[in-house]
Amino acid sequence: MTGADFSDSSDCRLHVRQNGLLTDLTYQVLAITSGTGVKALSNHLGVSDTSLPVRFWKSHLLLLRRIMNNPVFSLDPGSPAIMHHQFSSIVGLNEDAVPILEPSHSIDDYAVREIRNSLAKRYPHVKMNYAVAVACTKIDVALPTGGSTRSLSPTVLPLTENSVAILPGKMSEAPYIVDRVVGILSTRLGMNNVADRPCDEISDEGEDWESLKFANS
Ligand SMILES: Cc1cc2nc3c(=O)[nH]c(=O)nc-3n(C[C@H](O)[C@H](O)[C@H](O)COP(=O)(O)OP(=O)(O)OC[C@H]3O[C@@H](n4cnc5c(N)ncnc54)[C@H](O)[C@@H]3O)c2cc1C
Repeated sequence: MTGADFSDSSDCRLHVRQNGLLTDLTYQVLAITSGTGVKALSNHLGVSDTSLPVRFWKSHLLLLRRIMNNPVFSLDPGSPAIMHHQFSSIVGLNEDAVPILEPSHSIDDYAVREIRNSLAKRYPHVKMNYAVAVACTKIDVALPTGGSTRSLSPTVLPLTENSVAILPGKMSEAPYIVDRVVGILSTRLGMNNVADRPCDEISDEGEDWESLKFANS
């Protein structure tokens, strides 16, 4: 439902406005997957209070004309990671994410200077005249045990009896989180009839396999 606006989730009903059309949906389980908008949307729908334990982090990237052939990934905090896409190089710093209060794309000049300095230190001859800086917000869940570094763990946050918020942590964790969400949904919806996979079928006709083996040898 691209571009849809969701509102009022009272009594497990959701009003959806999309392209001027208003539709009412009824749900048994509502899974909110709006990324950095998860707090705002769940508040807007009235399925959580403002104490949802999510944190926002800002990091920056510097976009340059392609500066080299191979990608670079450094291990030290504050050192540059350089990835390429066709004619562009994208430079970020290891562990540069800083906590912020709300999602935002505003650029922090100091953070951008840090990228420039780190790149210049490693590659003094790189030209950065036409570099473009971008900022992005990432989200994680503050664990009760604390921890000042950003967590990449996939998380399912229970909101109400009928709703959860889902954060994959990293995009590459999406298949894992989908598996967990399907587990949660099928339990809550009482769906116990999960189809067997091919590897769930075993044969008790062992003698036939034996005869096959001898027949082929
Ligand atoms: C710069 C950057 C680099 C990254 N690099 C990597 C990487 O290399 N590898 C990796 O695995 N992950 C990476 N990630 C993380 C990855 O992008 C996220 O983990 C992933 O996109 C999260 O998926 P999601 O579906 O939860 O949220 P999103 O992809 O953010 O999708 C949420 C969607 O919800 C929509 N939405 C928000 N609010 C509302 C609302 N009120 N109503 C309706 N819709 C709404 C948004 O428009 C958006 O389309 C990177 C992230 C950033 C920012």
